Amino acid sequence: MTASPDRIELISNDITQLRVDAIVNAANRSLLGGGGVDGAIHRAAGPELLAECRTLNGCETGQAKITRGYRLPAHYVVHAVGPIWQGGDRNEPELLAACYRNCLNLAVANNIRTIAFPAISCGVYGYPLDEAARIAVREVRSFLANEDRIETVYLVCFGEAVHDAYRQALQEEAREERRADGTSR
Ligand code: ADP
Repeated sequence: MTASPDRIELISNDITQLRVDAIVNAANRSLLGGGGVDGAIHRAAGPELLAECRTLNGCETGQAKITRGYRLPAHYVVHAVGPIWQGGDRNEPELLAACYRNCLNLAVANNIRTIAFPAISCGVYGYPLDEAARIAVREVRSFLANEDRIETVYLVCFGEAVHDAYRQALQEEAREERRADGTSR
């Protein structure tokens, strides 16, 4: 099975406004809130979200934990802790890839069919956008290729630069796939 490209959608929107089964939060290891998308999600979800997060005892980098969405239109929040960019030789690519996989595994385990990701680690955590977009697209596509219980993955582009990076990564990935198909025949 190959992942049909239309199961991945780029959208330019505030993630807190999305009516999907789950949104992903780019959280920090405390899971007790922060700036950027984390702050926006906690503000929109209300104090009940922080109360539930307090029961989770934090989260390791590369891992993810799930809560309810409270006042958000989304039913769930999947809190993922991306790596802080430290130059690229501190396991950052593997940790970022693990974030996407762990979120998608949690989604399947909770019967989530539609899920929206922000560009994890691409804000305060400083991950180079093009590289992060390539990792996100590669992980989501390969997950969808083996898992049809997820209907749509939204990659949320907060700003033009993020949108461009994802569009480029999707094009590259499609080219790679065509090349692989060509050589396997
Ligand atoms: P990190 O600490 O993982 O880098 P940030 O929240 O600083 O997390 O940034 C992650 C990404 O989320 C960035 O691309 C940022 O532009 C984006 N972002 C910030 N606010 C929102 C929002 N309300 N909706 C969607 N994406 C957002």
